[in-house]
Amino acid sequence: MKDDLMQEHHDLLSGLVRLHVLHHAALQEIYGQWMIEELAEHGYRLSPGTLYPMLHAMERKGYLVSRKERDGRVWRKYYQITEKGLEGLAVAQRHLGELIKETMKRNPQGDSL
Ligand SMILES: [Zn+2]
Repeated sequence: MKDDLMQEHHDLLSGLVRLHVLHHAALQEIYGQWMIEELAEHGYRLSPGTLYPMLHAMERKGYLVSRKERDGRVWRKYYQITEKGLEGLAVAQRHLGELIKETMKRNPQGDSL
């Protein structure tokens, strides 16, 4: 997705990006740069200036927990999902499932995605 489109619809998409982060943090520890690359594979172009504050906020809200580890010359911050994060992810999955079913049924363009 183009940067400007991503920016224009940031409020709509940011929840999806957070869920994507939670999903991966549930599977394995993640760190910022890895997550940026993973999101890019799905067409989300996020700069560190957008993703890092998002990760910090998710930690502050109790969805993620971090630890720092030295990787060569740099300190890397690794994030893992918390109990609250798992709970949030499960709730979101139910809602996403319903939303997908409904939006596929009522796609105004009439084409399937
Ligand atoms: Zn992914």
